[in-house]
Amino acid sequence: MEKRQQLYEGKAKKVFLTDSEDLLIVSYKDDATAFNGLKKGQIAGKGIVNNRMSNMLMQLLEKEGVPTHFVKELSERETLVKKVKIVPLEVIVRNVSAGSFAKRYGVEEGIPFDKPTIEFSYKCDELGDPLINSYHALALKLATEKEIETIKKYAFKVNDVLKAYFLELGVRLIDFKLEFGRLNDGSIVLADEISPDTCRFWDAKTNEKLDKDRFRRDLGGVEEAYAEMFKRVTGEKA
Ligand code: ADP
Ligand code: UDP
Repeated sequence: MEKRQQLYEGKAKKVFLTDSEDLLIVSYKDDATAFNGLKKGQIAGKGIVNNRMSNMLMQLLEKEGVPTHFVKELSERETLVKKVKIVPLEVIVRNVSAGSFAKRYGVEEGIPFDKPTIEFSYKCDELGDPLINSYHALALKLATEKEIETIKKYAFKVNDVLKAYFLELGVRLIDFKLEFGRLNDGSIVLADEISPDTCRFWDAKTNEKLDKDRFRRDLGGVEEAYAEMFKRVTGEKA
């Protein structure tokens, strides 16, 4: 597979065209941002952790019946994926109160929910990714009713699979963000990444944060947290 020109440089990844119309190469950077790009930094080795972890999780999810964009890991930082048209929704599933949920509704972090929740943000940097509901998504023609149903079904399935998977590794899956896309035939697949950038992971014994909140909140030990998640998921030292 030949890498062609860069299509896009995002906050955490670069995306390249390839000699195949239907395939892209994503390259994971160490750059980190938070608060809609207001806070900027670097997390050494993050690109490697996120690439490898995301690929392992996507392969697990494929086996469990969730279609994904994953094709092949090319190197530590680069992966071949199916090119999709991204549905401009950030799909957030939560098991425990944290982050913007705790802030918005005035509750403390760490309250477990009886049932997982789902919410959508309109993926639009200029607007700061505003929270919307599925009626708004339909009104804005971001997705069809059928697509929204499929996305919800896949998102809860991802939660079931990953919650159990991480618990085995001594990690509580608190919440996470997913992105979905459309293939040429119109079918919906899971895209983007699943990593400590996009999930909240708390150690099951100590509730220590093992995710990007260490960077967002200046808690220190950022690289160490990513390395710890890498070790638990791959069994290898980062
Ligand atoms: P951002 O755009 O938020 O800064 P990234 O730095 O992660 O985020 O950039 C990766 C971009 O590639 C994102 O906009 C994401 O929606 C998009 N993307 C992820 N997977 C695919 C895919 N399979 N096909 C096309 N675009 C994708
Ligand atoms: N998230 C993300 N990208 C975003 C916003 C949120 O990956 O642009 C993830 C975040 O890492 C967390 C979950 O989605 O795992 C819920 O985030 P929340 O809404 O609590 O927002 P935050 O506290 O990050 O502002």
